[in-house]
Amino acid sequence: MKIIMLGAPGAGKGTQAKQIADKYTIPHISTGDIFRANIKNGTELGRKAKQYMDQGLLVPDELTCDLVMDRIGQADCANGFVLDGFPRTIPQAEALTNALEKIGQTMDYAIDVDVPDANIVERMSGRRACLNCGATYHIVSIPTKVEGICDRCGSEVVLREDDAPETVQKRLAVYHEQTQPLIDYYQKQGILKSVDGTQPMEKVFADIVAILEA
Ligand code: ADP
Ligand code: AMP
Repeated sequence: MKIIMLGAPGAGKGTQAKQIADKYTIPHISTGDIFRANIKNGTELGRKAKQYMDQGLLVPDELTCDLVMDRIGQADCANGFVLDGFPRTIPQAEALTNALEKIGQTMDYAIDVDVPDANIVERMSGRRACLNCGATYHIVSIPTKVEGICDRCGSEVVLREDDAPETVQKRLAVYHEQTQPLIDYYQKQGILKSVDGTQPMEKVFADIVAILEA
């Protein structure tokens, strides 16, 4: 099962992708998490990516595509994977289509988690992220059991730098301009499915499972 999660920043792609990965025992591949891990570890890729991320801009395709193609070629991806935050541009989507074509494969589903812009800023300002294990919470709708501490690994959870309201506005503009066209792209490929991402997290997940098991 090869799945792409589409949707605006803060729509809930990561929240759902983690559950899909757990339920179907496939890797969750988040380009945002990969970049954040590189920033944390002080790598050259992290240094380059941070310059764009801090401004709410996309990391250039040439820094992004190869790392995803390498990742999906690894052995644990043989039975499928869930892509979260990739592709984000038409050239990235084309690179993915072409890479899979070479090995006689295609993606199975592109699931658009639909949340209006009006809800996004509230979601992002309440998001708390564990930079150690990648878990994500929300101070109101999905709180940690102990305030400020990750349920999964016990590290501190923080407000991501790029979740500041001004940066979120920029990220939303970038989403509409560069990423939203992918909805059409995957519609044309015949694999687009849409779920109402404003529902409670469990209901969104149930809708996704119904699509995957239809
Ligand atoms: P994305 O990966 O699309 O950027 P996240 O999965 O990190 O988004 O979710 C953004 C924020 O919204 C997080 O704080 C998350 O806990 C919260 N969230 C996710 N899904 C829901 C939901 N269905 N209802 C309310 N809050 C949600
Ligand atoms: P995310 O964790 O998915 O919200 O991503 C955080 C940031 O990482 C984005 O705002 C971009 O700057 C960068 N990023 C993540 N995935 C991609 C991608 N596929 N293409 C370009 N930039 C990306």
